[in-house]
Amino acid sequence: MMKNETCNCGLLCCETVNARNKDNQFVLASLPYAVDALEPYISKETIGFHYGKHLATYIENLNKLKTGTEFENLPLHEIVVRSNGGLFNNAAQTFNHYFYFEALQGNGESQPEGKARQLLEKSFGSVEDFKEKFTQAGATLFGSGWVWLVQNGDNVEILALGNAGNPLTEGKHPLLTLDVWEHAYYLDTQNARAKYIGNFWKLVDWEKVERRIKVQ
Ligand code: MN
Repeated sequence: MMKNETCNCGLLCCETVNARNKDNQFVLASLPYAVDALEPYISKETIGFHYGKHLATYIENLNKLKTGTEFENLPLHEIVVRSNGGLFNNAAQTFNHYFYFEALQGNGESQPEGKARQLLEKSFGSVEDFKEKFTQAGATLFGSGWVWLVQNGDNVEILALGNAGNPLTEGKHPLLTLDVWEHAYYLDTQNARAKYIGNFWKLVDWEKVERRIKVQ
């Protein structure tokens, strides 16, 4: 039912993160790389807190809030689209974090190729212009939130969404996200969000972004 091939949420690990335990609860999926794989840009300490504590807590709260409701058996992305309030916040934070961590890699800076490059050049002029606008959106998003690259038909655009914001609620298909909550970078770059965003470009896994593109 939750095969990646048939799911349109964009999350390549959709099937994995929707696995339930015997009590019908979501469980924290394994990080798709070693805890120190993103060093020196994102430290194992940050991964330990961000993935191991923050994400785990969102999942714990999501499980508590969905139990006994109409949302109990829905896949994660459907809870995101249909819920409100605390349940939405925790479901969206769960989705957003999996989406963010899934498209990072520590094997050296990669570049968009293929369809991803075509879409970026069509909508932004060049990959560099896209990165500049995305970086600016992240640097100027006030408080906590997420910057997204989304696909809207044959175009791509940048959305800067506060708090747990998620583009699925606007009917837009996510391709890439950047977490700009302070907990994402404070241990590594303290108040310097711009430095964290600069490091993010060295970690983006463009092959994953390519695989997330919805074929028209
Ligand atoms: Mn986070």
